[in-house]
Amino acid sequence: MAYVITEPCKGVKSAECVNVCPVDAIHPRPDEPDFENVDMLYINPDECIECGACASVCPVNAIFHEADVPEEYQQYIEINASYFQ
Ligand code: SF4
Repeated sequence: MAYVITEPCKGVKSAECVNVCPVDAIHPRPDEPDFENVDMLYINPDECIECGACASVCPVNAIFHEADVPEEYQQYIEINASYFQ
């Protein structure tokens, strides 16, 4: 299980989450080339340790634990994972 970034992140990409993640699981970071090409950020489910720090600082409440992702955002579980494949 992992945390998942969902639709409210689109067009926002505030990246507070990037700064608090202890395992660098959230990409692209603002200092990575792909940052300008994406409309939202993604959590690598293989690296996330489920600490919840990112969800606490997200200004648009876009981040949920995988088990708590709202029905309308379920597809983002796969969308986050796909970014890292
Ligand atoms: Fe990083 Fe913790 Fe968020 Fe997982 S829950 S992406 S480890 S800050």
